[in-house]
Amino acid sequence: MLTAIPSAHRSEGGEAAPSDDSPAQDYPLGRMEAPVFQTAAFSYDTAEAMAQTFAGRAPGHLYTRLSNPTTLALERRLAKAEGGVGCLATASGMAALSAVLTGLLRPGDDLVAASGIFGGTVSLLRNVLGRFGVRTHFVNPTHADAIRAAVTSTTRAIFVETIGNPGMEVPDFRTVAEIAHERRVPFLVDSTVTTPALARPGDFGADVVVHSTSKYINGHGTAIGGAIIDTGRFDWRNGPFPDIAKWSMKAGDLGFLAHLRATIARDLGACAAPWTSFLMLQGLDTLTARMRLHCENARYLALVLQAHPAVQKVNYPGLETSTFHDRVQRYFGGLGGGIVTLRLGDRTRAFRFINRLVHARRAANIGETGTLVIHPASTIFHEYDAADRDRLGVPDDMVRVSVGIEDFPTLVEDVRQALDRVNQEQA
Ligand SMILES: *Cc1c(COP(=O)(O)O)cnc(C)c1O
Repeated sequence: MLTAIPSAHRSEGGEAAPSDDSPAQDYPLGRMEAPVFQTAAFSYDTAEAMAQTFAGRAPGHLYTRLSNPTTLALERRLAKAEGGVGCLATASGMAALSAVLTGLLRPGDDLVAASGIFGGTVSLLRNVLGRFGVRTHFVNPTHADAIRAAVTSTTRAIFVETIGNPGMEVPDFRTVAEIAHERRVPFLVDSTVTTPALARPGDFGADVVVHSTSKYINGHGTAIGGAIIDTGRFDWRNGPFPDIAKWSMKAGDLGFLAHLRATIARDLGACAAPWTSFLMLQGLDTLTARMRLHCENARYLALVLQAHPAVQKVNYPGLETSTFHDRVQRYFGGLGGGIVTLRLGDRTRAFRFINRLVHARRAANIGETGTLVIHPASTIFHEYDAADRDRLGVPDDMVRVSVGIEDFPTLVEDVRQALDRVNQEQA
């Protein structure tokens, strides 16, 4: 069967570097940037050579659903940025999560997941995995004890986001990692909101890191993509996953990714597109600089919002007054990310604020260079009822702002005039 795992798939580990270190044969003409191998398949000189590659005995690419040199360059760079052993890029963040979860879980298994996480992930866990007999216990990740209490003998993984989108909770990663490892199950972390520029979750116990690269890594809102990184910390031979253990015998610490690449992700079919991989590589070049600006603007904006009389509550983990301030210091080098949520009292006022913004745009994305706003309860979480939304950390008066990297006065002026009108139009 198709078991090709390109040998160059392994990362050397270490810090994020501005360029990848792909072998010369991937780039026969020399290069400044990774060339886009815009091809579905790769041709071979002989039947024997093709058979060798299919059998996984020779490195090489066969078909872009399995691997592609441009995507491989991205995978290598992301693995390195995360200090992981390898990476698998996918068609979207949801594709990455689907592959990881279906690759781990079977009917009768359960999962402990943080509440206040991405709406698409909640839906995947409930509506898709739920149909296949996998149960998810949602727990507020603020207190590790609640997570500990939710773990049962059938729990097969613990899943959190680095900063919940849009709950904005920051888990105590080291403690949650200990809980998972006591049970010999993997600790899965969605690091979309922090990116490797703020945190390498593997450094504080994550076994598998997942990204939606559509957000900050792309940075410009021009493509959808995802990635899975194995940090190399979990011993797949010793966990409750016999089929992955088999892969580990063959592929060593790449066992889990080999399992995903050669069966799960391959058969689910949501592969990364070469042109998209190129765009993600381009985004990575400026990621660190952009993230610094996103975080700086978000922190100042949070202070401005906090001081405005129309605002009831501001949620930004980077504020000194936040419950999560210490964790932001400890885990993210003091940078609180680019997302701020605010509460305005009721839905009407939230809508009024959103509608009066002139510069910021109304859009469902995060992590773009420009500021984007959304009312999560009526959009991403529209299919849930009010009680459910409260449990999921999405109140009806909440607005999410994905703070861009534009010149700060432009942003503040826009937000201030919109907030002023929220109160004026009420009077
Ligand atoms: C957007 C997002 C996803 C889903 O990613 P897509 O690329 O849109 O499929 C998953 N997790 C988080 C935290 C996200 O923000």
